[in-house]
Amino acid sequence: MPSLTRSEARTRSALLGVTRMEVDLDLDQGEEHFTSRTRIAFSCAEPGASTWVDVKPVELRSLVLNGTAVDVSGLADGRVQLDGLAADNVLEAEAVMAYSRDGQGLHRAVDPADGEHYVYGHLFLDAGPRVFACFDQPDLKAPYAVRVTAPEAWTVLGNGAATRTAPGRWELAETRPLATYFVTVCAGPYASVRSEHDGIPLGIHARASLKEALEREAPQMLEVTRASFDYYHSLFGIRYPFGEYHQVFVPEFNAGAMENPGCVTFRDVYVFRGRATRDEVLTRSNTIAHEMAHMWFGDIVTMQWWDDLWLNESFAEYMSHRTVAASTEFGTEAWVDSTMARKAWGYAAERTPSTHPVAGSEALDAEAALQDFDGISYAKGAATLRQLIAHIGDDAFIAGVSDYLREHAYGNGTLADFMGFMEKASGTDLGAWTRAWLLTAGVDVITLDTASGTVHRTVPEAFPADRPHTFDVAGFSGGAETFRVPVTTVGDSTVVPELAAAPDADLVVPNAGDLTWATVTLDEKSIAAVPEQLALVPDPQARAVVWVSLIDGVCLGTVDPRVMVRTFGQAWPHEDNDSVLNRTVMSLLGRVIPTFLPHAEQDDAEQVVARAAAAVLARAVPGSTRAVVAARTVARTSADEALLRDWAAGKDRPQGLEDDSDFGWIVVRNLAARGLAGRDLVERTREQDDTLQGRLSALMAGASMPSADAKAWAWGELTTNRERSNYELNALAQGFWASGEPDVLRPYAARYFTDVPAMSAWVGDDALARVATLAYPSKVVEEETAALSRAALGRDDLTAAVRRSIVDAQSQLEEALRSRATFG
Ligand SMILES: [Zn+2]
Repeated sequence: MPSLTRSEARTRSALLGVTRMEVDLDLDQGEEHFTSRTRIAFSCAEPGASTWVDVKPVELRSLVLNGTAVDVSGLADGRVQLDGLAADNVLEAEAVMAYSRDGQGLHRAVDPADGEHYVYGHLFLDAGPRVFACFDQPDLKAPYAVRVTAPEAWTVLGNGAATRTAPGRWELAETRPLATYFVTVCAGPYASVRSEHDGIPLGIHARASLKEALEREAPQMLEVTRASFDYYHSLFGIRYPFGEYHQVFVPEFNAGAMENPGCVTFRDVYVFRGRATRDEVLTRSNTIAHEMAHMWFGDIVTMQWWDDLWLNESFAEYMSHRTVAASTEFGTEAWVDSTMARKAWGYAAERTPSTHPVAGSEALDAEAALQDFDGISYAKGAATLRQLIAHIGDDAFIAGVSDYLREHAYGNGTLADFMGFMEKASGTDLGAWTRAWLLTAGVDVITLDTASGTVHRTVPEAFPADRPHTFDVAGFSGGAETFRVPVTTVGDSTVVPELAAAPDADLVVPNAGDLTWATVTLDEKSIAAVPEQLALVPDPQARAVVWVSLIDGVCLGTVDPRVMVRTFGQAWPHEDNDSVLNRTVMSLLGRVIPTFLPHAEQDDAEQVVARAAAAVLARAVPGSTRAVVAARTVARTSADEALLRDWAAGKDRPQGLEDDSDFGWIVVRNLAARGLAGRDLVERTREQDDTLQGRLSALMAGASMPSADAKAWAWGELTTNRERSNYELNALAQGFWASGEPDVLRPYAARYFTDVPAMSAWVGDDALARVATLAYPSKVVEEETAALSRAALGRDDLTAAVRRSIVDAQSQLEEALRSRATFG
């Protein structure tokens, strides 16, 4: 189905103004369908003109424009033509709609723990017409009055405060003007924790079967919610305007969360049912602060078109780290986490051919815009805002932001609008800065010549730009920081006298405070010192920068992956920052070991990780984050069958994990991947954990078995079973590539390129993008795979999302091939 183009959107918003939306949904019509009635009041600048309404129904029962029936047989590609518009119009639509299973539109899930059904709306990007007739584009905002009929035992939540007016009948308070993609309704027997802060009613909700976990976790979430409200109120000087603030943890959610005004939706694994590590709580806190930042940036002022996505995401990304650092118990750990979890992701995006400028990407249609929800729009954009603040000062930045928000409240904004306010507030011409940092892709390489005190900046040939960098350089010797020098670069070579005068250091870390966006290359002496010295560096932020520099170096083919394994073995057991602990394990086990090292070395390298983890587990305070990360890592990597069997049976588990189902599943998956667990063990474990999470874990464990039969089964379920939900597809894809000898896996490298693109016939792009990434044959690191991949990109039948997933995964495969060619 073609998606809305930018030029169509421009034409339509020049013609129309939507004054009010009324939506009435009946969710008590069985498990497949719901009915949707819409009344759109809108004006037209040129009476007599034509336009179209967006609607993607199972059945369009009626469409009435200004009292006259519109011929609905013209419904094609989700559009119905509307002719003869008046200056003021009323369009009424009645349709039967389908619930979705792919997390787009109105998603309906069943909780196997109790058989209860849950519905949530995720209208993000262009799924609005799957729920109600509308003019679906971000700059046709209108107030919404929503009514919902639902089974009597359900709770209904939405953007406006919900009132039950009769059994099974709900009315949501009329909202401020909203973009279509922010409208949501969540309905089901949700469990709730309610509170209040500073006059704002608060609610936190999750499936009934998660009630206990919800009540345990809610106080921390509410604390972050309150702190974030206080912080934003004082920073922007503009009060939160959307009434109540609900945070709903919903099943099978594609993204991390969605900033629907007044009713934010989150993936529900955030309601930790088992033991959570400190960095997992930090990540959730960050997501809470991120979505709330959107209430101002995105919701009060919305980007005019998707090419200014960065106005939403870069800002929310930056603000969430800042807020968590300034107003929660995590303090500066928030920035370390951003280095490990977010910037590493952004640098990976910058290395692929799909990289793009932070702002001003083409996004010619809505579907193309989905491709920009990546590490560039989030992580690089946030780093760029930090550079902007270093350039113009924080006071000017905040003043400019406040003015921008006030001026464009309840409307839309663009890059030019935003930068205009920054220039006015700072009295600085930011034209050149904007072109270099926001409108040009690419990442500079920063290297040092400490003897002469020179900072070298190498600009990527493909993306010439003159980006000034502000950062610091720190030196470390024998466990002490011996110097720290601030640097602002001018041109390609900047002489910094303090750097030349700095004492000799074993390890010199450019960008030690991680203020800028650059590929940090350590000098040879520092690289040689890293395995021994890294653990001694007292500053966790600098350690994180070194780790990301190593990951970058491995991917760029400048650092031998064995150096990273060796550093892990020596430094990791002494690491005390939780984000560094967790993320380095993910990076090594997820990518470095299984793709950069040759097959024959992978087991030994994994055992380096297993031994480091066992050493930490033996010494760590029982139940601490260190102990939990170590225990999970042992469970994931250990080859000790007796230990794994005991843990699977719940015997002698590490403290705090005795009843932790998710820990049990890590053990079972490891056994399954080693060919040591049969379907009976998986089935027994699932019977003890017959929940959404348990069923997903069982699927993943089944797909993780290494036999040819198991792989054939998993591949069939993944690529042909149309009943599978988005989450089930992800679990199958992940499990599939978690084990298996090359001969068993190799045939699926070829099949991927036919079977996965074909799934676009029944899986939406947002969901399929993830599946296509997870299912890509990254583990078949062979030239033939890359050749198949390049051939597939020559086809014209790939959706934009599948194409993008292949481009990025192929680029990572090629990085592994190049590294193997260099280092063996
Ligand atoms: Zn966001």
